Amino acid sequence: MPSQRSFYPSLGQSASHDNSSAVRVCIVGGGFGGLYCALALHRRSQASPRPLHITLIEPRDRFNFTPLLYELLTQELAPWEIAPTYEELLPPTAVDRCQDWVDQIDLAQRTITLRQGKPLVYDYLVVAIGSQMRPPTVAGSRAHTLPFATVDDAWQLERRLEALDDLATVRVVVAGAGASGVELACKLSDRLGHRGQITVVDRRGEILRSYPERVQRSAMRALAKRRVSVYLDAAIETVDGSGLTFGYQGQPHHCPADLMLWTVGTVPRPWPSSAAPKQTPLGQCLVLPTLQLPDYDNVFVLGDMAAMPAPGRERAPTTAQAAYQAGPVVAHNILALIANRSVKPFRYNHLGDMLTLGQGDAVVCGFGLCITGRLGAFSRRWAYWLRLPTHAHRRRVLRHRLGFKD
Ligand SMILES: Cc1cc2nc3c(=O)[nH]c(=O)nc-3n(C[C@H](O)[C@H](O)[C@H](O)COP(=O)(O)OP(=O)(O)OC[C@H]3O[C@@H](n4cnc5c(N)ncnc54)[C@H](O)[C@@H]3O)c2cc1C
Repeated sequence: MPSQRSFYPSLGQSASHDNSSAVRVCIVGGGFGGLYCALALHRRSQASPRPLHITLIEPRDRFNFTPLLYELLTQELAPWEIAPTYEELLPPTAVDRCQDWVDQIDLAQRTITLRQGKPLVYDYLVVAIGSQMRPPTVAGSRAHTLPFATVDDAWQLERRLEALDDLATVRVVVAGAGASGVELACKLSDRLGHRGQITVVDRRGEILRSYPERVQRSAMRALAKRRVSVYLDAAIETVDGSGLTFGYQGQPHHCPADLMLWTVGTVPRPWPSSAAPKQTPLGQCLVLPTLQLPDYDNVFVLGDMAAMPAPGRERAPTTAQAAYQAGPVVAHNILALIANRSVKPFRYNHLGDMLTLGQGDAVVCGFGLCITGRLGAFSRRWAYWLRLPTHAHRRRVLRHRLGFKD
């Protein structure tokens, strides 16, 4: 149920606090870009010459730390560790949370229309609503496959796996051999053990297309070790209740399945209004190096939905790593504008690549090093622990892992 906690700046209504001189910052989307921007703004708000009134608009009740979603399938991590509620993350901060969808943004009027609540006005706006699954073009895929992008999807998959508990063999087909497809295939194989018969199908000729070769090689080894069948250069043609049909080596090939997962990529979410700012052909918003919209210097767009700059690359990748780095830069720039200081450009810094390759197994490559196996799994878990959203949450997870009671 959408709710709006305490005060926030709605149109035609004065705030319940003496908030009239506060600068109204609205952040749309509480994922890696939006939440980390809100937390950074709050942390640095003492440096602002004027009080800040920060509102985070997010329809979900939990932040989703997506890189660790797979660990729910093998119960290596508990849901609360990777999906803490915003209520847990935000109370110690002065960030107001508004649990609602943004339906319209009017850049000229500086207003936001919510699906349920009253409209909001802003002085500064941050938009980070991420991406969504690529619209299906294959007949039957929506009806017969499961997505895997959120904690809710992980719970839905868990229920399906439980319903298949009585089967001696569980045939799983994963569409897409990108990071999600490969990580899911390895985790599901470990989860199902000898009962699992896992197949990965991709229309491209290689797995993990945008990853370095040594990551691809480690992943291929992990898939082979688990006897996962991989069909490349295989164009999926139809999906129905019995399985998936794809063209392979000039012949149609039917792969029967008890469970099918769809991980064929994402596209940026559409801008919430018909009057969208300028976009790339892929649908990402064009932003200045400072992550401001070219025609609105009080509006910042970041994360998956922005074509963020990156040295030596066409643009930053659509990853948590990039969105997480951009959040504090946007916070810095908003404070700079309020204080009449100059804004700084966002410089994406690629820290490396990490993938889980099964239970207690991962590959971590960066700074010329590549670690795999248990050490890789430990390093990946540690790196992600450091990036959990708040100090309090990190401490709670660490205490739990060390066996302390809350
Ligand atoms: C299964 C999975 C695994 C991944 N693993 C990795 C990984 O290992 N490493 C990595 O770097 N990246 C990974 N990613 C990619 C990463 O999750 C994204 O790149 C990152 O979340 C993008 O951050 P963002 O802030 O742009 O969007 P998100 O984090 O997706 O946040 C967008 C938020 O906006 C909210 N929202 C959407 N529409 C509206 C609206 N109209 N009004 C208000 N709120 C709205 C959504 O509810 C969401 O909370 C993974 C993604 C998935 C799905």
